[in-house]
Amino acid sequence: MKKILLLPGDGIGPEVVAQAVRVMKKAAEIHGIELAFEEDLIGGCSVDATGTPLTDAAVEKAKGCAAVLLGAVGGPKWDAVPREQRPETGLLAIRKELGLFANLRPATVYPSMVEASALRPEIVSGVDMLVVRELTGGLYFGAAKTYEEDGIRKSYNTMSYDENEISRIGRMAFEAARGRGKELCHVHKANVLEVSQLWLDVMNELAPEYPDVNLTHQLVDSCAMILVKEPKIFDTLVMSNLFGDIISDEAAMITGSLGMLPSASLGEGGIGLFEPVHGSAPDIAGQDKANPLATILSVAMLFEHSLNAPEAAATIREAVSRVLDAGHRTGDIILPGQDITPVGCTAMGDLVLEQLDKN
Ligand code: NAD
Repeated sequence: MKKILLLPGDGIGPEVVAQAVRVMKKAAEIHGIELAFEEDLIGGCSVDATGTPLTDAAVEKAKGCAAVLLGAVGGPKWDAVPREQRPETGLLAIRKELGLFANLRPATVYPSMVEASALRPEIVSGVDMLVVRELTGGLYFGAAKTYEEDGIRKSYNTMSYDENEISRIGRMAFEAARGRGKELCHVHKANVLEVSQLWLDVMNELAPEYPDVNLTHQLVDSCAMILVKEPKIFDTLVMSNLFGDIISDEAAMITGSLGMLPSASLGEGGIGLFEPVHGSAPDIAGQDKANPLATILSVAMLFEHSLNAPEAAATIREAVSRVLDAGHRTGDIILPGQDITPVGCTAMGDLVLEQLDKN
């Protein structure tokens, strides 16, 4: 029996998580996986109920589970509250408490969705990549200071990694590549940055442990260019926190559909936090208009990475693909000029379940 903690959060979070849970139960049933669910609060709803965006009790529940499925946090109601009560503080806290050091963001262009990209169809068709970003070190966590010297204001941040931080994310990326196209591209700036040279050395040292994976290295600036010129050459990419922040957003936008982007944050021992990339979309919350596919695809990642059930993940992805191929769309993924009647959040969940029933 595997325990899953649900943290639906705010805005459209509860709506998309509800559909994702239906899909998770059905996929588990198909593949004979026993699941038990717990639920708690995070974000603004937790602030309202308890005065804090994440309670110790919720953290303890999470630590006792195999995985956490999160909806989204935030909304205008909590924009003006003090920092320690901001919904996002709950998000940062749970990532820290669970020791999640790797962020995995796939960018997949479904054949029936190529027109959604800002890039030409022939450039994006067939894109299927995974960006693995280091999440707890580097520039965002190094020593930083703003000060004045000789009447001049100065400021610095430091990017620092040790070899253990690099090898644990490196191994995770090699494993991920092994389960995909067996091509791993390490993205760096070793021609300028000392710390990138250590990344390059450690990645090369790990490579013999994964003889079935082809490791390449790419400068981050040329990676950014290739992403818009020839994105389909990439399979799995791994990089430091700063580079990953920027490159994962660039890769995601190639797909052109925020409502369909899943993510996973993983730590030691397999526990993971799975959530859509999008926010709480207060403009459409409570109207049954949200696209639940990003959260449903996050459930596929949950099966793959925290429940060791890649076959359940594949079943979900195939079902989503068939729903899109059949032409069903929530409002956010209908393109200008397309004459399609949008389906709602619940109806999109129904459509995915219908496809799962065909298994
Ligand atoms: P957003 O992602 O919530 O919304 C951006 C736009 O995309 C909106 O027009 C929204 O309607 C649309 N959209 C987003 N997800 C959708 C979906 N699943 N289906 C259909 N349409 C969708 O970003 P925002 O408007 O900048 O932020 C709103 C709130 O969410 C803020 O409080 C912000 O802090 C928070 N936020 C939370 C997270 C998170 O929980 N991880 C991430 C980003 C933003």
